[in-house]
Amino acid sequence: MDSASSRRTHTTPQRKNPSMCQHQPACPTADSADREAARLVAHHPEQGWSLLCNGVLLFEDTGELLPDGQVIAPRRPLGPAQVMTAA
Ligand SMILES: [Zn+2]
Repeated sequence: MDSASSRRTHTTPQRKNPSMCQHQPACPTADSADREAARLVAHHPEQGWSLLCNGVLLFEDTGELLPDGQVIAPRRPLGPAQVMTAA
């Protein structure tokens, strides 16, 4: 609800992605919009999560946990109309 997308105004002196990928082309970074397009490096369907090459944990319910600890809420496709037919 109150997840304000606060942009960081200051940049850290450290390098952001120290040789993240061992392959080319490199995966999108964890803070890019298409982070889910990164390669899977670990897949645990029995536990409901996958680890992407850019360090993002992708959960079965489409929730995400970014390497910096940020949590992305699941984006479940809601049904067109959940009508309760209380008969
Ligand atoms: Zn990669």
